[in-house]
Amino acid sequence: MSFFVSCVSLFIALLLFFPVSTAANFTASPTITNAPVAAELKFFSLDHKDVAAVAIETRLPAANESDPSCYTFEPQYRIARASDSITITIAAQPMLPANSYAQASAIRTARLNQLTMTAADNEISLAIAYNPKKSEPAITTVKRKPVIQPDNSIIFRTYLVLTFADTPTAKLPKTIVLDPGHGGTALGATSNDLLEKELNLDIALLSRDLFRGQGYDVYLTRTDDSNPSLLDRADAANILQADLFLSIHNNSMPADMPAAAKRLYRGTTVLYNSSANKPAKELAIMLADQLAAALRIHQYPLQDRPGLVVLNATHVPAVIAEVAMMPHPQDAKMLSQRIYRLEAAQAIFQATDKYFSIISLSAGGI
Ligand SMILES: [Zn+2]
Repeated sequence: MSFFVSCVSLFIALLLFFPVSTAANFTASPTITNAPVAAELKFFSLDHKDVAAVAIETRLPAANESDPSCYTFEPQYRIARASDSITITIAAQPMLPANSYAQASAIRTARLNQLTMTAADNEISLAIAYNPKKSEPAITTVKRKPVIQPDNSIIFRTYLVLTFADTPTAKLPKTIVLDPGHGGTALGATSNDLLEKELNLDIALLSRDLFRGQGYDVYLTRTDDSNPSLLDRADAANILQADLFLSIHNNSMPADMPAAAKRLYRGTTVLYNSSANKPAKELAIMLADQLAAALRIHQYPLQDRPGLVVLNATHVPAVIAEVAMMPHPQDAKMLSQRIYRLEAAQAIFQATDKYFSIISLSAGGI
């Protein structure tokens, strides 16, 4: 099998394995020596769709290219279809965690009857038996942004994604990815006996219930005290082709700021990325307005933060809400009470829901 990390877009989305001879025709495209590996299986089950994604990685050696952004990595795979099943076989060395196979076989949903993952030499197969009356699979690839390693080599990860959405797909609701910031040993801000990671999770869980109650498909990047990597959080939004990635945080002041100075600042702000493919500044404005009004607190200027991973690794509109200022005694007292965390969740839902209704009105030409 051959494979490529290549600047040449001709390689995109071919559904058959390349013969080795194809590579020789594109001398400008460096063929790398590291074989692709299957690194991980991710599975998402939402109210209206199930999504399985196999992560395939390869590594470009150091100093081959100063600009990794011009490279793409296209895994090679083939597909076999039957009336109620699909099998996808990927040319990659199986390097998944050992329990991945058992986890796959344990998956059952209203749409999917069975997942079977099998490994062979330099190949991995994922067979999915599904209910054709409820869903038909769609196949896409999703790229993670290249990650430069300490030795200056570059890891490229591309997900092969199988989406089983409810039919008819025209009536599918919007998909929201909610991202409670921090988790586990990453506490986030700590002020006034509060842990930011706990506040973020509770506001996200309350928000999830509001969105789901109104028919949205919702995925949380964590529902417990875990700490997914920032890239894994962004990947979820990309793999699910979400309509919005909304990260929930609470703000802090520099630790070395005098206590008296910290008492001066309370309020909310929202971060966005103006250089993203799909910037979300309008939503950021609406979110900050709604949070400030609901919590009756000051609003700080929006922050354009293109350097933050969850804002620059997401291919979908993305914002970070900094709900309130934890070092301030009044903001802290408010955040410590669930009624105010619910008010924050309601503000997040209402601003987002209003944003989508405005978008759909303008898309309809009204
Ligand atoms: Zn935070």
